[in-house]
Amino acid sequence: MSGTPGIGSRESGVGSRASGQRPKLTLATTSLAGCFGCHMSFLDIDERILELVQLYDLRKSPLDDLKTFTGMCDVGLVEGGCCNTHNVHVLREFRTHCRLLVSVGQCAITGGLPAMRNGIPLAELFAESYQKGPTLDTALIPSDEDLPMILDRIYPCHEVVKVDAFLPGCPPSAEIIWEALSAIAEGRPIDIPYRDFKFD
Ligand code: SF4
Repeated sequence: MSGTPGIGSRESGVGSRASGQRPKLTLATTSLAGCFGCHMSFLDIDERILELVQLYDLRKSPLDDLKTFTGMCDVGLVEGGCCNTHNVHVLREFRTHCRLLVSVGQCAITGGLPAMRNGIPLAELFAESYQKGPTLDTALIPSDEDLPMILDRIYPCHEVVKVDAFLPGCPPSAEIIWEALSAIAEGRPIDIPYRDFKFD
């Protein structure tokens, strides 16, 4: 991903401050229709988290349990695609509040494993999930008005909002996530050889 457009570049407006002392950036993360594996991989940066907090102030994220934005954020990491209306709402809120939005992992980039349901009619999915399962003791399909509406298919993030950069993998390794975040903070291009992207 060497020379990723819009990242760590002067055009991005992020991580491109004048030389000398660099102010800390702000970082938000969220998980949509994913398994939290990408967040777990993020935490695999281990002791580098001490360096991370020198580069970034963490804002809205499951990692610090801050649930609301209090202002604009420099960088937003999104795990998972959109499977329901709540995912779409959260993703649009992230786009609005993050100067640089990064899709992290295959679920965010292509829909990933949840997208295996794409192409199957919703009625068939609901029947299989709520009415035909061997462990079910009710034939009711949940329909409370407080529940988000299921979308007709899984939508990758870039089909819902503009995404500035992509970190492929399932999950992207801690090294990839660290390289991306440190490059953005230092205002240099992200340099990740293609061979380092893994899907295992
Ligand atoms: S890309 Fe892989 S690790 Fe990340 S949320 Fe999706 S399934 Fe989980």
